Amino acid sequence: MSLDAGRCPNGHLSCPPHPRCPECGEPQSETVDLADETATVVTWTTSYATPPGVREPNTLAIVEFEAYDVRLLGQVDGDVEIGDTVEATYTEELRDPEAGIREPASQAWDGYRFSPS
Ligand SMILES: [Zn+2]
Repeated sequence: MSLDAGRCPNGHLSCPPHPRCPECGEPQSETVDLADETATVVTWTTSYATPPGVREPNTLAIVEFEAYDVRLLGQVDGDVEIGDTVEATYTEELRDPEAGIREPASQAWDGYRFSPS
């Protein structure tokens, strides 16, 4: 699995990729895999009122991949503080497929969380 960001000819990145760059409107013509890169915690919060199937409590963070000037929102494993370095870690279930989704086969359940590195 990969953690793909789209890049336009002007070097802007967005994650997830878009057909056109949100910054300048050019088509995004490249993909950059951020899965093996490190990021820095910009801010974080812990939710104790989570949607069905989402772990509780659920810590979320906005992390910045400084080398690429792109930010992501994602779940966090472990304790983090602003400025901490994190890495993406693959997980098979970001949510519980048995938690009331009418057509579980229509969803992707796996993805990445961020962990202190
Ligand atoms: Zn652009």
